[in-house]
Amino acid sequence: MNTVFEPYRIKSVELLKVTTEQERKALLREAFYNVALLKSDDVLLDFLTDSGISAMSSNQWAAVQLGDESYVRSPSYEKFQQSLREIIPFKHIIPTHQGRSAERILASLVTSENTIIPNNAHFDTTKGNIMSMGGEAVDLLVDESRDLNSDYPFKGNMDIDRLASLLKEHSESIPLVFLTITNNSALGQPVSMQNIRATRDLCHTFNIPLFFDGCRFAENAYMIKQREEGYANIPVREIIQEMFSYVDGMTMSAKKDALVNTGGWLALNDDDWAKKALNELLLTQGFVTYGGLSGRDLEAIAVGVQEGVDEHYLKHRIKSVERLASGLDKLGIPVVKPYSSHAVYVDATRFFNHIDAAHHPGQTLNVALYESGGIRACELNSIKLDNAFDKPEASGRCLIRMAIPRRVYTQSHLDYVVEVFDHISKNKTRWSGLDKVSDADPLYYYGAKYQPVT
Ligand SMILES: *Cc1c(COP(=O)(O)O)cnc(C)c1O
Repeated sequence: MNTVFEPYRIKSVELLKVTTEQERKALLREAFYNVALLKSDDVLLDFLTDSGISAMSSNQWAAVQLGDESYVRSPSYEKFQQSLREIIPFKHIIPTHQGRSAERILASLVTSENTIIPNNAHFDTTKGNIMSMGGEAVDLLVDESRDLNSDYPFKGNMDIDRLASLLKEHSESIPLVFLTITNNSALGQPVSMQNIRATRDLCHTFNIPLFFDGCRFAENAYMIKQREEGYANIPVREIIQEMFSYVDGMTMSAKKDALVNTGGWLALNDDDWAKKALNELLLTQGFVTYGGLSGRDLEAIAVGVQEGVDEHYLKHRIKSVERLASGLDKLGIPVVKPYSSHAVYVDATRFFNHIDAAHHPGQTLNVALYESGGIRACELNSIKLDNAFDKPEASGRCLIRMAIPRRVYTQSHLDYVVEVFDHISKNKTRWSGLDKVSDADPLYYYGAKYQPVT
């Protein structure tokens, strides 16, 4: 059978507010034509992010009821440890309240004035944490990832040659190397097992630990199964085991592949670093057995992380993102290829080629999507892209990202998105761009204000 169905049924539903185009036009005006300023309950389908908005299962909600909120050594902590240990082999697994708090603790252990931390591409918060402590965060993406149209299957890979020269020159300033899987800043592209292995071998030569920024480790594993020779018949859990066997630790946002609304962890093998990390956790987040989370959050993670590595779940997850992307591709909408596991990216500059860069084709496409269909996406401006691709000059590329929340929307919701795009595509000249009225600092695309070009 070829139909890819949701491997769950719906027990409780959240009603959507359906608005008219007229109402949406007024709401856009009030939000200064920046969809990030819309109230979320005025949005029909929200693809601003895939972070922390997963739908929890009935088993997770049942586990929430078992949460034990004792300050120390709660049984919820034991369940968290036991469940994660089945998947993640590290000696120390430290709960934190988000991914960035794990990054903060790790950065505080290893960063000083002259520190350099290489990564295939840092996520904003990882980079921010390193830089705020005086370190330098270096992105070393493979060249193939620069070409939005190349079908290279692992555009998230680390450039091994550039990493080798950096290590040769500066190994004494490099306390650890990161690999972000999947590579969120490089348009959600996966990293191959071969690349993980090659990175590990290099780190080994220089005796430098290798860590995963592992937010989407399960989705990355499934894409290794789909795309890398030799893995098609290997169970995802075994692929994950092999991936983790090459690294010394990880930071994790449980808001992604652990299918919960908040949480994270720092996992590592080194006893000395673990001791220091636990001290830092105590000072800034909470006792070592809850790390800023409640007992019920730990229970939800314990169940969610097992559901997040389930092959049926992952198959549906990745196939449904593919279906949306290929639906747009068939209409001639310029989507980034190969498809990622968590989001669909559309090249707004090419789509709205009658709107020049100064008139914000990305934000204009966001406006068109909301106006026509109540859909909210997110703009990735070219500055952010240039950072990730290590290219200082303005590329002029402007993409929008539709990040797909986990288990939240059905196939027909995604089919509706394709239809809305079709409508916009046939009426492109209705939108003629936006002028920016005011900037916002520091997350500019979350606060800037616009008005339509007249
Ligand atoms: C979301 C994310 C983070 C940060 O996690 P939070 O839980 O939002 O703090 C770090 N790295 C990557 C790759 C992410 O996608």
